[in-house]
Amino acid sequence: MARNPRYDILFESVKIGPVTAPNRFYCTPHALGTGNQMPHTRAAMREVRAEGGWGVVNTGYCSIHPSSDDAPLPNCRLWDDEDIKVHALMVDAVHKHGSLAGVELWHGGSGTGNRYSRMPLISASGVSGDSTYPGWINLTRSRPMDKKDIREFRRWHVDAAKRAKSAGFDIVYIYAGMNFGPYQFLLPRMNKRTDEYGGSLENRVRLTREIVEDMKEAVGDTCAVALRFSTDELLKIPGETMESEAHEVISMLSDVPDLWDVKSSSWVTETASARFSEQGAQEPINSFVKPLTSRPVVGVGRFTSPDTMVSQIKRGILDFIGAARPSIADPFLPNKVNEGREDEIRECIGCNICVSGYHDCVPVRCTQNPTMGEEWRRQWHPERIPTGDPETSVLIVGSGPAGLECARALGQRGFAVTLAEAREELGGRVSIESKLPGLATWARVRDYRTNLIQTMGNVDIYRGSPLTAQDVIDFGCDHAVIATGAKWTREILNTSGYPVDGLEGDAIFTPDDIFAGAEPEGHVVIYDFDHYYMGSCLAELLRSRGHEVTIVTTANAVSAWTFMNNELGNIRERMIELGVTTVFEKYLTGFSDGKVVLSSTYRGVDASSIDGGSLVIVGIKSASDDLYQELKSHSGIDVRAIGDCRAPGAIAHAVYSGHECARTIDDTDADVPFAVERALL
Ligand code: ADP
Ligand code: SF4
Repeated sequence: MARNPRYDILFESVKIGPVTAPNRFYCTPHALGTGNQMPHTRAAMREVRAEGGWGVVNTGYCSIHPSSDDAPLPNCRLWDDEDIKVHALMVDAVHKHGSLAGVELWHGGSGTGNRYSRMPLISASGVSGDSTYPGWINLTRSRPMDKKDIREFRRWHVDAAKRAKSAGFDIVYIYAGMNFGPYQFLLPRMNKRTDEYGGSLENRVRLTREIVEDMKEAVGDTCAVALRFSTDELLKIPGETMESEAHEVISMLSDVPDLWDVKSSSWVTETASARFSEQGAQEPINSFVKPLTSRPVVGVGRFTSPDTMVSQIKRGILDFIGAARPSIADPFLPNKVNEGREDEIRECIGCNICVSGYHDCVPVRCTQNPTMGEEWRRQWHPERIPTGDPETSVLIVGSGPAGLECARALGQRGFAVTLAEAREELGGRVSIESKLPGLATWARVRDYRTNLIQTMGNVDIYRGSPLTAQDVIDFGCDHAVIATGAKWTREILNTSGYPVDGLEGDAIFTPDDIFAGAEPEGHVVIYDFDHYYMGSCLAELLRSRGHEVTIVTTANAVSAWTFMNNELGNIRERMIELGVTTVFEKYLTGFSDGKVVLSSTYRGVDASSIDGGSLVIVGIKSASDDLYQELKSHSGIDVRAIGDCRAPGAIAHAVYSGHECARTIDDTDADVPFAVERALL
């Protein structure tokens, strides 16, 4: 198909200093959870974006010196010449597809931990950054940089830039944002210096200017030098000659760098999930930049709609459409727009499971794109998949995210696929949960897949078809894939933290009961030891229906796991705004006569109680696998369970499981089902 001329502007080439980007699709630097330890994994994860049409593909944060080490978080590094070839692998992979490769050179100053290198932290004035989250608290404080340190700091940037050039990079960054080294000089709250690097804004900008100029002199003949700069904090400080210090910084350095990459100072704000922010939410902190420079400007905003992208360019907000998450969810987004296949874009749902992968220190994974992180080790490509035998029939029971993804991928492989769903609506839990407050984008998991399978001649879909084991046997397929999901149980925890039999009673509900239309009465106590979104989403829902709501949890925060996907603070604020009462670090041990009985998670004995009209238990899910268990013993059919029916988890796990089943249905099992990157001795 031909490209819609409306989107032509997105495919214009743009000059960045001495290099030229083939289009305006720009993968901004973002961590992938691979560090230098997994060079092949990283190269393949980046290559697939270049292949998918992103004109610029960057690394994540790349340490320039051991005095900036973020272990155990997996940053990459260019500490000495030995580190060059690890990067060259990625650069070559990106260049193969005609895209530019960029490296985000990084010194964290006091905004990192140096847990591996054990070198003292350094910063403008010895002021450390916020330690908002336990994982980011350091036991060491930073020491103020003296003039020698500043000279070294500049040299490390230059040396790393030269190594980057040797690796073949086209764009080298200096990172003056997000609480890291040079940014700490820009901020009055962190820079208390009285020398020429402190005090006036001109002085505070000095180090950033010097580094950009040093790097341009060192590598600027062939490499573009990009400046990554966080705007939001300085936007709040009135300037002397302009509206804010952020305006003044951009004006002072206007055409010094070859590219401005503008962003928020907080990773949590920048990666706000769809529950808490809209597409394009960064515009207020980005839109002032372009009028102040003739250099191209890139920024992010979880852009998935090509119309929104065009609007950003035409309204003069950005020159490049920056993306991390949209390029993870669909590495082929640009090519799909280019080929008039916008309908096939696998839109990011803004769930931030990718962010949690990085916090877990593993290659990032994605709810929408199950191939993310598997490109090298399992050779999974996001668009291509080996052809299967069209004579082989597969019956899939259940159309949640697991069943839908399995049907889509098997359909793409060419198998004869039948998908049976008990309900009239496809989508399983996704159709239900996307109706919860803030989760509407999650329906994209269903819509992307149903849109595709409805066009496939080899996939038959039967709605309103609850199948029994006998139905499956009578159907007579080669493979039966059971994707019947899971149900929330009424189990609670004993005071040692182990699951015990659930509570029964008219006023006791599970999330499934609420979804089925049950109406709790009066003050609702939500007992949450699931720790993900469900407890707080139900609290929002029940508040909107006028209930007084209390969340009791065994953790020390509401939705405690969401520290991992950067939602924790936003959820806390939302609960406060809504007037939801919270009770932390308690087991719920009983509920009768309107009294909820609690005991401390620490001593387990100090019983207390609160009044509650109804109780909702958000705890443990149990696989709905009766059909699978019945069929397993039936010889003649290869039967497999996938998704929540196999092991309850997040939607990302269900999609992955469905995809894995489709890829391996005609494969023999291997003990280690993927290639492993090993240190060479
Ligand atoms: P997952 O997350 O693993 O995809 P879901 O709970 O989202 O699981 O989806 C399971 C789907 O299976 C639901 O839509 C449910 O209606 C359907 N289902 C459950 N049992 C049967 C059955 N016996 N026959 C057909 N569909 C079923
Ligand atoms: Fe988007 Fe979620 Fe995938 Fe991250 S994990 S890219 S937020 S769909």
